[in-house]
Amino acid sequence: MRVTRSKITTNFSEWYDWVLSEAEIVDYGRYPVKGMGVWMPYGFKIREKVLNILRTLLNNSGHEEILFPLLVPEDLIRKESKHIEGFQGEVFWVTKGGNDELDVKLALRPTSEVAITYMESLWIKGYTQLPRKFYQVVSVFRYETKATRPLLRVREISTFKEAHTIHETFEDADRQVKEAVSIYQQFFDSIGIPYLISIRPEWDKFAGAIYTVAFDTVFPDGKVVQIGTVHHLGQNFTKAFDMKVQRANGTLDYPHQTSYGISDRAIASIIAIHGDDHGAVLPPAVAPISVIVVPIPSKEDNEKVLEYARKVLEQLSSSGIAARLDAAEKMTPGEKYYYWELRGVPIRIEIGRRELLKNTIVMKRRDTLEATEVKLPDLIDAVKSLLNQIDKDLKEASWSRMKSMVRIVHTMGEVKTELESKMGIVEVPWCGNDACGLKMEEESGARVLGRPYHDQEVTGRCAVCGSTAKTILRIAKTY
Ligand SMILES: [Zn+2]
Repeated sequence: MRVTRSKITTNFSEWYDWVLSEAEIVDYGRYPVKGMGVWMPYGFKIREKVLNILRTLLNNSGHEEILFPLLVPEDLIRKESKHIEGFQGEVFWVTKGGNDELDVKLALRPTSEVAITYMESLWIKGYTQLPRKFYQVVSVFRYETKATRPLLRVREISTFKEAHTIHETFEDADRQVKEAVSIYQQFFDSIGIPYLISIRPEWDKFAGAIYTVAFDTVFPDGKVVQIGTVHHLGQNFTKAFDMKVQRANGTLDYPHQTSYGISDRAIASIIAIHGDDHGAVLPPAVAPISVIVVPIPSKEDNEKVLEYARKVLEQLSSSGIAARLDAAEKMTPGEKYYYWELRGVPIRIEIGRRELLKNTIVMKRRDTLEATEVKLPDLIDAVKSLLNQIDKDLKEASWSRMKSMVRIVHTMGEVKTELESKMGIVEVPWCGNDACGLKMEEESGARVLGRPYHDQEVTGRCAVCGSTAKTILRIAKTY
């Protein structure tokens, strides 16, 4: 048996739905509200592991976790005009309490900038209280009218980690954007998800932001998914709430803010990007079970084989490795392999009579399906080092697949043919004028992701107007 990725690349959509439901990650589509689904126990554990990584990164960098109410009154949400303009058509409203019409409509939060700024205006009076860095992990709601896709395009984003920070100066907030970008890089690195970081074009920044930095990745079908965003909000929201604080120089001024979010899409990426035709392939950092031990029944020595398997399990567990023994009698070893491969457990240990007699185990890695024989005394070292290796190899493989999907082209003709034939991301020289950028978006029939966040060398001429290129513009078909 070897790893194949034909199903996932040729019919990604079907593969994706199959893995999410068969591996019992989420049950979407059967819940009787469009765009809302259920996290199943196995998926919930993956989600918990992902959130633990994120929480640790945020807590270790001075962020404080909070929890705001779900409902936001209409007058609050209308305070920042550009913001409400951007979310207008997407807000779910609560208009009744029991049989009574409410005096003030209540929104199911689509995001929390206004609610948080309102409370900050009561809490913070002077620069000595700044900066504050808050975050919460909550559900947010968007009235999505396009076709919904589990964890990708939904009406309830049930895992929304939103951070909100507030600072004395514009430069402080700028530095915070850099910190947030670096935290997100560490986060995606730790789950092996490759990304490109772009500054979104002026016409596609977050509603109410000065600028937006976004993380994008490429899915196996060649379409691009936005997996994280960081916004510099400047004074837009604090001005809307007339929130002035005392500065170090004694004057009163509006503080500057940032906000940044990561959603369910991080988990969708783990499933989609590392997966293969056998199902999910989980990076050890987020796998609820690191090692599954499968005993192979033996006519002569079945009890002894089972006893040996239990001994192996005990050794793994007492070394802090999340291991489980699958001793179910109703399933054949083959059925068990299928079951755990689908769920992406990083290592499978097979133990039969042969291993018992030789005092060994067979260790099979999920990502490559390669098997190695290990002597029992070497068990723990071998498992630990293989988990590290899988982590490293998954990350390398996913980065190299994404890099092969990013190409530089020079003309609008090439943009179109490249995106049609191979999808992925094309990078095209750009003079920096919005008019040319908008034309590129229109002519390509795809979406402009923006220019690189980190400086990238550029040669050639703007693909639209022909003047000297100042930077490049990234274009892709997106989810
Ligand atoms: Zn131009």
